[in-house]
Amino acid sequence: MSIILQPLTCSSCGAPLKSRERDRMLICEHCGSLSLFSGGKTDKVSFAIAKPTVESESPLFYVPFWVVNADIGVSHEKISGGGISRAICGQKQMRGNRDFYICAADAIPEEFSRVWNMDLTVNQPQFTLIPEFKDGSRIVLTMDSETAKNNAEFIFLRYETEIPGTLQELEYDFSVNSTKVLYLPAYKKPTSYQLGV
Ligand SMILES: [Zn+2]
Repeated sequence: MSIILQPLTCSSCGAPLKSRERDRMLICEHCGSLSLFSGGKTDKVSFAIAKPTVESESPLFYVPFWVVNADIGVSHEKISGGGISRAICGQKQMRGNRDFYICAADAIPEEFSRVWNMDLTVNQPQFTLIPEFKDGSRIVLTMDSETAKNNAEFIFLRYETEIPGTLQELEYDFSVNSTKVLYLPAYKKPTSYQLGV
């Protein structure tokens, strides 16, 4: 456990930053830039905001996701009992280049974030981006990018083991090209959360 002794400063203009509790994304009141807090210091972070495409009366907010771009190469796999059903079930395999979506806000219960992560990663959606948070606030980003990279690899493995057939052996190479933050609009319903894209 370490303590931060240096004041945190904006990665763009150098102005001092105030932190919201547990939020790794720090906004500069001077220039409006966001910096990422990681490893006891602030860094520039690449981020984008997606436009809501679903309408709702429920409160709107923006959920941070890490988008982990990675290349997956499988050099060897051994499957028993499902080779044919794998081929005919139509489920795409996760190979080559792909964006992995990892919900980075622990305010979202895992029962929702887990489904979002898999659906977004499988479907590779396109988003219309907007320059600022419109009609809602962003919720705090609590996950660091290293954890997101590990979770991305875990999504790949979970996907491979959940499609038909018993995966007995898998040799693969999972190499991360980049990480960035994407805020997706979401609505809070009485008993659930719904993505607004
Ligand atoms: Zn600044």
